[in-house]
Amino acid sequence: MLLKSLDEIQEYIEQNGIRFFNIYNDNFQCRCGCGEVLLDSELLEKLDYLRSLIDEPIKITSAYRCKEHNARIGGKPSSSHLKGLAVDIFIPNNHYRYKVLDNVFVEELFNRIGVAENFIHLDIDENKPQEVCWGYFN
Ligand SMILES: [Zn+2]
Repeated sequence: MLLKSLDEIQEYIEQNGIRFFNIYNDNFQCRCGCGEVLLDSELLEKLDYLRSLIDEPIKITSAYRCKEHNARIGGKPSSSHLKGLAVDIFIPNNHYRYKVLDNVFVEELFNRIGVAENFIHLDIDENKPQEVCWGYFN
């Protein structure tokens, strides 16, 4: 289910027992200040489960992006961030990265994964190649 406003996200959180995320602490909206937001509830469910498994906070550094903001920061025009189907989460250290990837693979939580130095991109876009893990190399 595609959630299309902060109210819809909060309502989903309250009605479906999402434990670790809420609209007050977690930046689901586009970062440019446009106020727009899209978030697939399946992505939220998976993040909440991942959070319970790693037992450490998850800081979302990028969730939904409007077209303009995505272009401005150099995102691909086809980015899953535009559809509410991807998030980037902050990776503070090597052990945290290991725990995230370990649980993502063991639990088969995501099969589209991008690994950067300080974030991991988690993506549920079914209209793109599955079982892919890429790096952000310069
Ligand atoms: Zn925006």
